Amino acid sequence: MAKPRVSFHDFTSCEGCQLQVLNCEDELLGIVGAVDIVNFREAIDEKSDEYDIAFIEGAFTRESDRKRLEHIRKCAKIVVALGACACTGGLNVLKNFRGIDESMKKVYGEAASWYETSPALPIEAAIKVDVKINGCPIPKQEFLEVVKSVLAGRTPQIPDYPVCVECKLRENVCLFQKGEYCMGVVAKAGCNAWCPSYGGRCYACRGLITDFNKNAAKDVLAEYGLTLEQVMAEFRMFNGVFPVAEPPADGALKS
Ligand code: SF4
Ligand code: SF4
Ligand code: SF4
Repeated sequence: MAKPRVSFHDFTSCEGCQLQVLNCEDELLGIVGAVDIVNFREAIDEKSDEYDIAFIEGAFTRESDRKRLEHIRKCAKIVVALGACACTGGLNVLKNFRGIDESMKKVYGEAASWYETSPALPIEAAIKVDVKINGCPIPKQEFLEVVKSVLAGRTPQIPDYPVCVECKLRENVCLFQKGEYCMGVVAKAGCNAWCPSYGGRCYACRGLITDFNKNAAKDVLAEYGLTLEQVMAEFRMFNGVFPVAEPPADGALKS
């Protein structure tokens, strides 16, 4: 039986998520044995338009990306969004808030008009996505879980509960107790509370859990005297494309 053909593609990103794939050193040989990798710019020279599973890294940030994304969608049976840039637009979305023209001038100066750009968006704004692997970068274990489940034809087991659950299991002292704040209350787990375990706060790089209790989250933040600007800045870091990033109309938090 022919092995499934797998393809990796990159759009606007730092390519750190593809590096995470290469970092799966112990498991990579097993994966390479089970599939045929036909496009992977970081690792091989081969190129092909014949593939079954496409992993797409990076955000949709130029109108010309749309054609390439549509072509990949046409070639692949399964499309997997790889990492925060592809799933939510990631850090790239910050330019939408700063202003596209201002961001371009800041980066390219006088040469800004040479380059094509548009507001940064998740790839889902252009094509249908079947599976998302969140995170900046992606957790290796989740990539492996998705590969195994796609090959076995089952739904991947991806947590939809807050990072706080993993953080408590690791017996970390909560950052709120230290006078800091953290998005772990609404962020999707699966990273094993990576940042709080090393003393950093969670910026919800893995996106937000489904149907989180917005009012409870706001109450917690307000209880610790946080301003609206602080909370919005945290949301926008990785989740600026979601409506939840808009300031709450009731002004429940201090501005
Ligand atoms: S999600 Fe983060 S690590 Fe992955 S490509 Fe984007 S910026 Fe890089
Ligand atoms: S440090 Fe962050 S992730 Fe950990 S329990 Fe506190 S709010 Fe939750
Ligand atoms: S703790 Fe938060 S910011 Fe850090 S990796 Fe996990 S989800 Fe991302």
